[in-house]
Amino acid sequence: MQLAQNVVALAPQPSAAGRFSGPAGATIAEIRRLAASDLTPIVADIDKGAYPAAVLRAFGVAGGYGLHLTAGHTLGPTIESMAAISETCLSTGFMDWCQNTLVWYILNSDNEALKAKFLAPAAEGKVLGGTGLSNPMKTIFGIEQMRLKGTKVEGGYRIKGALPWVSNLGPDHLFGAVFDTDDGGRVMCLIDCADPAVTLKPCEPFLALDGTGTFGVQVRDLFIPQDMILADPAMPYIRKIRAGFILLQAGMAIGLVRDCVRMMEEVRPALGHVNRFLDVQPEDIAEKLAAIEAEVFELAATPYDPSDAFWKRVVAMRLEGGEATVAAAHHAMLHCGARGYVAAHRCQRRLREAYFVAIVTPATKQLRKMLAEMA
Ligand SMILES: Cc1cc2nc3c(=O)[nH]c(=O)nc-3n(C[C@H](O)[C@H](O)[C@H](O)COP(=O)(O)OP(=O)(O)OC[C@H]3O[C@@H](n4cnc5c(N)ncnc54)[C@H](O)[C@@H]3O)c2cc1C
Repeated sequence: MQLAQNVVALAPQPSAAGRFSGPAGATIAEIRRLAASDLTPIVADIDKGAYPAAVLRAFGVAGGYGLHLTAGHTLGPTIESMAAISETCLSTGFMDWCQNTLVWYILNSDNEALKAKFLAPAAEGKVLGGTGLSNPMKTIFGIEQMRLKGTKVEGGYRIKGALPWVSNLGPDHLFGAVFDTDDGGRVMCLIDCADPAVTLKPCEPFLALDGTGTFGVQVRDLFIPQDMILADPAMPYIRKIRAGFILLQAGMAIGLVRDCVRMMEEVRPALGHVNRFLDVQPEDIAEKLAAIEAEVFELAATPYDPSDAFWKRVVAMRLEGGEATVAAAHHAMLHCGARGYVAAHRCQRRLREAYFVAIVTPATKQLRKMLAEMA
């Protein structure tokens, strides 16, 4: 059976055990259980392009998108639950990030009408969606031009433009977006994919991550009413949510690196006599992972820290997380050898997935630019 070869039942990770107790710990344990029972059997299908809507909704019912509400707006439990999912499947870990980031946006808005309408449905996974902030994040840091433009009209804005890739979308999904106005303003809003002014265009196949509900989005004269506006003006709000946006991505890195350590250990009984000559051993990756986890979970306890020093640590951590993920997947492949290179083994999937952590916004090159400019 191809599936049986492709996946391995997950053992609890020592580094994760006991980090969170109480209701958050129980939710994380349930997410981990669901990942083993419901996600593991379909991970190969997701890799081939199937969008796992039922599993994403089940994570919502289990409380996986409400952890930053119950955890007093700290992000550690959400990151740990995303890591538990990413240990099995990075595509689903990324969609967990998309959904949790959508909730993070709604939670931090001062628009009470928007919160009343969307916070509970998004936190419970009844409404699914994501975030189209790659282009704004690159625009703010001087890499691109803003792709969505708006004009103030009676009762809101009318916007148009196109975004090349937005994930965790479908015909009834929502996502966060930013547009510049012709009078010099910048506004952050929610876009409803069900609106006839919004068209989802299928993307060309990717190297991995094809099951992530990723589309090109075209927006033609879409009306954004007041109750879809997250922040106007957007910039003070973006400064408030930006550390959380990046910190949450650490869940993907931590989960994938944990699985790479596990793969290296799995082949040790058969190949340890020769693998010991490789210059990077599972203990080296595990040591690096422990240092990253310590930094991530400390930063995640204070996601609203406005200081420059905190922001710099967040950006540096994100860079290190992306680079450690690619390195771990590379070394896992060297340890697994030919058995990891066959299409049915998860090692080659994990290697393809790993590059996504390093290229999703903020990508490695953007992070290096940001750090260079901070210096
Ligand atoms: C699977 C996947 C899912 C993604 N999901 C999201 C998401 O949910 N939300 C989000 O905001 N962003 C998403 N992105 C975009 C992602 O975050 C990065 O912006 C992207 O990977 C490129 O970042 P970069 O900094 O390397 O930019 P670069 O690759 O250096 O430059 C990006 C720019 O190059 C141009 N470009 C290059 N190749 C193409 C192409 N084939 N088609 C169209 N334009 C092209 C475009 O102008 C684009 O803006 C996704 C990307 C991928 C591959």
